[in-house]
Amino acid sequence: MSPTESEKYSRQEGLVHQPRVEKLRIGLKGTNPLLEEQLILISKHLGVKEFPVTNDMDMEIVIDSNKKNEKKSLYINMKETGFNLSTEFNTAEISKTLALLAPGLSTLAAAMAWQEILKRQNCIRSIPIMKKYATVQFRVNTQFTNISEDDLAGVQAFHGDQRLALFSEPCNDGTGHVRLTARLDLESPNLSETLKSVDLKIDESCVVEEPYSFEFTIPHVEKLPEGNLVVAGVGGLGTWSLYTLFRGVLNVGGSGKGLNITIFDPDESIEIHNLNRQVLYNEAHVDRPKADCAAEILASNLSDLNVGFGVQALGLPELDNLLTHVESEIKSDEDDVDLLEELELTENNSLSADEVKNILKEADLILCGVDNLNARGVLSGISSHLNIPFINAGAENFSGQFDVFQESGCMACRYGADSVRDKRITSCQEDGDVPVASIVTTTAIFGALEGLSALTALSEMSVLSQWPTQAIWGGRSNRLQSLQPPHFMQGNDHVEHILQALGDLNSNLVKVDMNTPLQSDNRNGAVKKESKHQ
Ligand SMILES: [Zn+2]
Repeated sequence: MSPTESEKYSRQEGLVHQPRVEKLRIGLKGTNPLLEEQLILISKHLGVKEFPVTNDMDMEIVIDSNKKNEKKSLYINMKETGFNLSTEFNTAEISKTLALLAPGLSTLAAAMAWQEILKRQNCIRSIPIMKKYATVQFRVNTQFTNISEDDLAGVQAFHGDQRLALFSEPCNDGTGHVRLTARLDLESPNLSETLKSVDLKIDESCVVEEPYSFEFTIPHVEKLPEGNLVVAGVGGLGTWSLYTLFRGVLNVGGSGKGLNITIFDPDESIEIHNLNRQVLYNEAHVDRPKADCAAEILASNLSDLNVGFGVQALGLPELDNLLTHVESEIKSDEDDVDLLEELELTENNSLSADEVKNILKEADLILCGVDNLNARGVLSGISSHLNIPFINAGAENFSGQFDVFQESGCMACRYGADSVRDKRITSCQEDGDVPVASIVTTTAIFGALEGLSALTALSEMSVLSQWPTQAIWGGRSNRLQSLQPPHFMQGNDHVEHILQALGDLNSNLVKVDMNTPLQSDNRNGAVKKESKHQ
């Protein structure tokens, strides 16, 4: 495997035994072009070398069959607005899937099918490894030369030109020696090959053999989607949701007429290790801004779509701008179409505060694909203020949750004030970055759910209320469960909930210090605020 290919799967290697995944031998029986395409797409993102195979099979995927298969099988039966997935043959109804929903439902079925295969073929690690690194220790005699603590503080460690994180601790063995530990990051290219052979192994002989059966349906919608969609974050979740959306429109012969999409993402460059799960991008997009690439791909697929983008985050300054500035400053009676056509990007590919404000005020829906709770909280405040639905998902490792917020709730109501303050990310590890492992099955499932619910809302807004307001999925059970969400806050003023959660209890307005830099989290394109409320 080339270094590039290996880097592509580096974010999932702590979750699955990658060599086993690559060698999986899975057959395919039955015909359903969309579902086959999605099964192949997910197999490629997982790194499976060959799929489907015709001999020496570990398992066979059987699509839309009325007959029991002889081999060890996973049956997928597509339905009008859902699917049935089972390891046991059953006589579940098979029917033609609604064209608008078929691509997204196929993605969902394919991702869950692959997850079940990973489970049953013992590819999932019993212990998820969040990050793997190597260290080199130097035992230093500080007494021999009377080296002081100040001298030690000035010591730096290098690997080639790369400066390494260095930690010191006393040896505590009576020698007075000090141990200096330099951390070598396995992502460093010349190390990754050498140290690939070092791994954690525990007894993993118990393969899951219990029968599995899962049925999924969503509400019926057929009309072509129209209106103004704002997408915040086009990493794993955002790309799969946009993919679900434009493939659905194409599948009913639509061209995106009447649909306006604005994409925001501050991440200035797509990296190789994003490619194992961020479906819109390929090697040609590496080092380009995510929002720019996503917009370009949408425009090339839907000829009548109005699409705009900004290489920037949506967060507190935008909420502040919506709350503080008086109405008269805003140009009124903007035509929706002109709004996007007249966008002027600055040198940094970002939109002005007024342009963003106008786009938000015209929005019918916000779809959230950011990767931290604080940004989600602020976005949910923006959508509450605008009185439009907010579709959210969070995914990492083999788990995630999906939310639809309409007038009945916000992130603070549902997840508590602490979640919006995002302590998880601000409590940094030594390198200032909580490592997150990610894999295509998880992001495809939650991205498809977001995309399907966005299609529902833009097709027929009233039908969105028939969607579950909250759903969770765990890769070990491989079942999506809808939940009755908890309610942590009193009253229905959700903008106030978010402001309270952010800690500004004395004012109706958020005080944003515009000079405080927003910290960009390079790994996932999310933006987190400096922890000034802690
Ligand atoms: Zn609320």
